[in-house]
Parts: sequence; C-alpha cells; structure tokens
Amino acid sequence: MTILVTGGTGYIGSHTVVQLLEAGHHVLVLDNLCNSKAQVIDRISQITGNPPQFIEGDVRNRKLLKQLFADHAIETVIHFAGLKAVGESVQKPLMYYENNVSGSVVLLEEMAAAQVKSIVFSSSATVYGEPQFLPYTESHPLKPINVYGHSKLMVEQVLQDLALSDPAWRVALLRYFNPVGAHHSGLIGEDPAGIPNNLMPFVAQVAVGKRAQLSVYGNDYDTKDGTGVRDYIHVDDLASGHLAALEYLKKNAGVLKVNLGTGQGTSVFELIHAFEKAANQKIPYEVVARREGDLSEYYADAKYSKMVLGWQAQYDIDRMCVDTWRWQSQNPNGFND
Ligand code: NAD
Ligand code: UDP
Repeated sequence: MTILVTGGTGYIGSHTVVQLLEAGHHVLVLDNLCNSKAQVIDRISQITGNPPQFIEGDVRNRKLLKQLFADHAIETVIHFAGLKAVGESVQKPLMYYENNVSGSVVLLEEMAAAQVKSIVFSSSATVYGEPQFLPYTESHPLKPINVYGHSKLMVEQVLQDLALSDPAWRVALLRYFNPVGAHHSGLIGEDPAGIPNNLMPFVAQVAVGKRAQLSVYGNDYDTKDGTGVRDYIHVDDLASGHLAALEYLKKNAGVLKVNLGTGQGTSVFELIHAFEKAANQKIPYEVVARREGDLSEYYADAKYSKMVLGWQAQYDIDRMCVDTWRWQSQNPNGFND
C-alpha cells in the first residue's frame, strides 16, 4: 500500500515509518522539519535497508499536496504533523490552532479532492481532561484543559463531521497516552529541541550528564507515592497500533475512536527507579512545587483497543527505560551525533 505519513521524521512518526517499511508498504514522508531532523531518514534507512521517500514540506502547502496526490497512488494518510508542547500552546494559541487545526483541514480538503478518504489521526489522551473516573474509557467526557488538547479535539470533531457527510471516509482517531522509549537499535529515538518538557527525556538527559538534576513536580498528590501518575507506552507499541489501525480501516468505514495505552499507571518515582536500574546509576532529583496545569493521575482503559484492533502493548516500563537509555547513551546529542 502507498501511505503518506505527515510528520514522519518526528518521534512517533519515525518509529511508525520503520514498521510500515518492514511490513512492505511504500512510504512517503512529508515533514517541514520544524521539530525534527532530516538525518532521521538516513537512520530509518540504516534500520530497514530501505529508505522512505522524503518530501520536505508543510501540510498547509495546498499546491504541494495537490502535486503529491497527483503523482502518487496514495491510499491512506497517517497524520502525525502538528505542534505538541502544552505550555507553548497556551502562550501561542493561534499558532497551535493554525498548524494543528487549519493544517489538518487543508490536508483533508486535498485528500477529498484526490478521492483519498482514509486517515489515521494522532489524537491524545489530553482530549479527556480532568478525570471524572479512571481508567479513561473512550466514552469518558471530552473536556480538554489546554489549547493543545482543544486543537486535538477540534480535529476529532472535523473528522467525525466529515465522515457523517460522506460515508466513504475511513477514520481512526488514536488517543495516545505517554509515548516513551526508542527503537531497540538505538538509531532513532526522541530528540527534543532545548530543555525537555517531558519526564522521560529529562531523566535521560540527567543520566547522560547533560542536565544536573531532575525537578520532581510535586510529591503531595493523592497517588500511590504522592507523585504524578501516567500511562507510559513504548513508542514501538504505539507504532504497531498504527499498523493495526490500518488493517481495521481496510475492513471498516466510519470513525474509530480508540485509546492507545497500556492500562498501567506509573508514578514519577517509579519511573526514576526503573531508569536507575536500566542505566545503572543514581538519578539526582529535587522535589519542587507542582507544575501548573498538571493532572495528578491518568491512565487508559486498554480493553477496547484489544477488542477492536486485536492490539495490545507488549513492553513494560523497565524495557521502556532500557531502550531510552540505549538511544540516549549512544546519541548524547540526539541526531546531531
Ligand atoms: P514530533 O514533534 O516529534 O513530530 C511531529 C512532526 O511533525 C515533526 O517532525 C514536525 O517537524 C512535523 N510538523 C509539524 N508541523 C508540521 C507541518 N505544518 N507540516 C509538516 N510537518 C509538520 O511529535 P511526536 O511526539 O512524534 O507526535 C506526533 C503526533 O502525535 C503529534 O500530532 C502529537 O500532537 C501527537 N501526540 C504526541 C504525544 C507525545 O507525547 N509525544 C502524545 C499524544 C499525541
Ligand atoms: N514531571 C516531573 N518533572 C519533569 C517533567 C515531568 O516531575 O521535569 C512529572 C509531571 O508532573 C507528570 C509526569 O512527570 O506528573 C509526566 O509528565 P510529562 O510532561 O512527561 O507528561 P504529561 O504531564 O504531559 O502527561
């Protein structure tokens, strides 16, 4: 199958492209490199022996999309391209709505014009907002608490309305929990620009000596040890969830909404301890005030993904830390190494 992967040089996209190539698909990667590096393509080629076709460009570039759909027999699109920093989204809402929402609308218009009506969309557990109950099931109320989450929910709505208007559309809305880890080769992984916002890359950079210590944002939450709890999922498990979604879309039209998580909650302290074991060293940390806007605890109900996709996560938190550490220690400066 010929698949257009937007945002395919990014963290989750690159791991998914590896699995798509390994499954024998023809892959076109479209990425404007605003948050990733072109070197990712070489690394993907090293892993698979088979480079994807790379187009440096923007999903908001209508002319470029028209050309892509005219030149290639694209059957489906996996749409990762977007901005993802929660804090920045609150500071720069227009930039987030323009890229994440308007960008998706332009892509969908050009897909419709080209009669390509199958899409897998990167949504997020942030669409749920403050937990009314846990684990979050797919029918949990949707009430995002920040601009980034609103941008994801808006695109979900656009896709649902589109599928209602035209039953030929096949749509998978994948609500990711917290992706971590790296490909077992150590050749690709998460390479955040600047100071990492997220826990795992921060811990990894402390371990490799790039940062002095971790700040733990609060140990007074009503959780198992007082620190925040999340559902961390190995990025290769997340990637395989996309292949399962493609199989589902071959057989089913309409809209699928599904969590991609493990169903397991891990606290900040538990993650630190698992990382210490993986890297065989202590991670210095200091407990500081809570981070504004953080939820104390959330994790997925993973039953529906298993039922509808026949997919479930394979890797535990120890393996996520081992693979993160292999990537970080082999590439202390990310793709610049
Ligand atoms: P990432 O930043 O590594 O990848 C996104 C890629 O999209 C980057 O390579 C970036 O250069 C590209 N991009 C951004 N805007 C673009 C545009 N207008 N045109 C073309 N390319 C563009 O992020 P990721 O972690 O791989 O996330 C992929 C998707 O999954 C995003 O939509 C993100 O919102 C979503 N998601 C991520 C997480 C997470 O914690 N990483 C959680 C839930 C959902
Ligand atoms: N966290 C932390 N220190 C950091 C980054 C994150 O203690 O430097 C905590 C954060 O408060 C949350 C958990 O780690 O409880 C996961 O945070 P992350 O930003 O990775 O994911 P998100 O909060 O977006 O789900």
